[in-house]
Amino acid sequence: MQSGPFGLDIAPDEPLRFLERLRRIQSGQAGESMVNQLAGNMGGAPFAYFADWTDRVGGDAGFHDIGFLQLVSPAERDALEANVAMQQRVGITTEVVDADQVRGLLPGIVIDDDQVAAYEPRSGYADPSSATGSLLAAALGRGARLIQDCAVTGVRVAGERVVGVETERGSVDGPIVVDAAGAWAGRVAAMAGLDIPLTVWRHDVAYVRRPPDIGRHVGFIDFDNLFYSRPEGDALTLVALEDGNPIDGDPDASVSSATAGFELRAAERIVRRLPDFGRAGLHSAHSGQDGITPDQHPIIGPAGPDGFWLDCGYSGTGFKTAPAIGDSLAALIAEGPAATDDLAPYGLARFAEGRLIAGEHSYGHMWR
Ligand SMILES: Cc1cc2nc3c(=O)[nH]c(=O)nc-3n(C[C@H](O)[C@H](O)[C@H](O)COP(=O)(O)OP(=O)(O)OC[C@H]3O[C@@H](n4cnc5c(N)ncnc54)[C@H](O)[C@@H]3O)c2cc1C
Repeated sequence: MQSGPFGLDIAPDEPLRFLERLRRIQSGQAGESMVNQLAGNMGGAPFAYFADWTDRVGGDAGFHDIGFLQLVSPAERDALEANVAMQQRVGITTEVVDADQVRGLLPGIVIDDDQVAAYEPRSGYADPSSATGSLLAAALGRGARLIQDCAVTGVRVAGERVVGVETERGSVDGPIVVDAAGAWAGRVAAMAGLDIPLTVWRHDVAYVRRPPDIGRHVGFIDFDNLFYSRPEGDALTLVALEDGNPIDGDPDASVSSATAGFELRAAERIVRRLPDFGRAGLHSAHSGQDGITPDQHPIIGPAGPDGFWLDCGYSGTGFKTAPAIGDSLAALIAEGPAATDDLAPYGLARFAEGRLIAGEHSYGHMWR
């Protein structure tokens, strides 16, 4: 019933090991990194799902391998080096680069001489509409049925087991129900009698028209200035902020415009780092929402009545991981725990048991 990337990617596919899948992902605005953290700014290594989309999924995900830079403050150098070493151990193409190398990769950048960054030459970004559309086409081709504009209004349970859902257009029978409802996932979980620690995270993005003398640039996250950026096509650049993202809102809230004042804050951040963008013009800005959890990692696994599964709480980082996690979750549902234990840490029980997920070498809190 759901049409986000997770709702579309839980059809069984070839059962690769989860970490192996993660290692192969290339993706979104962030580059590859943090393979040990599902919802980190992972992206990936060698040409798999996103770079090899046509063979793996079919269609086109609009992947552009523009490269990715992770900028951190000099104080976070040790953490950056540890993360790069960890990523290299699992086969990701990444290296630590110094300030002069960063200047070569991102001409015009204002950066201190003692600042370092991680550089992933093969990372990039993909187009969410094309990726989701081709996942949909692949699912339909394998026998999935799409019902649009039809909300699930209840989860039907007989005894201890799920037997289907109620929808705005009647009942649908089924032994498995997966809650992949993004910002609305708490509501759907409540229909199965579950109270999950998931609230709504809102995120604004701005698109600016690059001055004609600035070409397509590398994508980057600037943890020093709490923003990220990447080109969008030939003429535009996307700018978004790590801080000031409203939490606890209404999943039904309109997302057609950005939060008041966002455009100015975004402009100030990118111009601080790349003064040439002072000549850029605002093209547009809008917002979007996702479910966020206390540790900003997803909730994946069975919960509540038998047959009910959670696949939600991606906390703003679920696009890049959707194909890989979808494969693992499909294997887990269809074949049971023997198929994979990759997703075991992401179960709902971790919150009650105080086993929140934390990166070993994080750069501070994103989003909050
Ligand atoms: C502005 C913005 C930028 C982002 N950038 C990135 C990025 O660069 N990289 C990255 O990896 N991630 C990014 N994300 C996060 C990513 O988009 C989400 O994590 C991802 O879309 C979650 O996928 P999903 O399938 O779980 O949920 P969604 O994509 O939200 O889909 C959920 C679907 O469930 C449907 N639904 C809800 N309730 C019901 C119901 N009762 N009955 C039936 N259907 C229902 C909704 O209509 C929706 O179609 C970004 C998010 C935003 C908002």
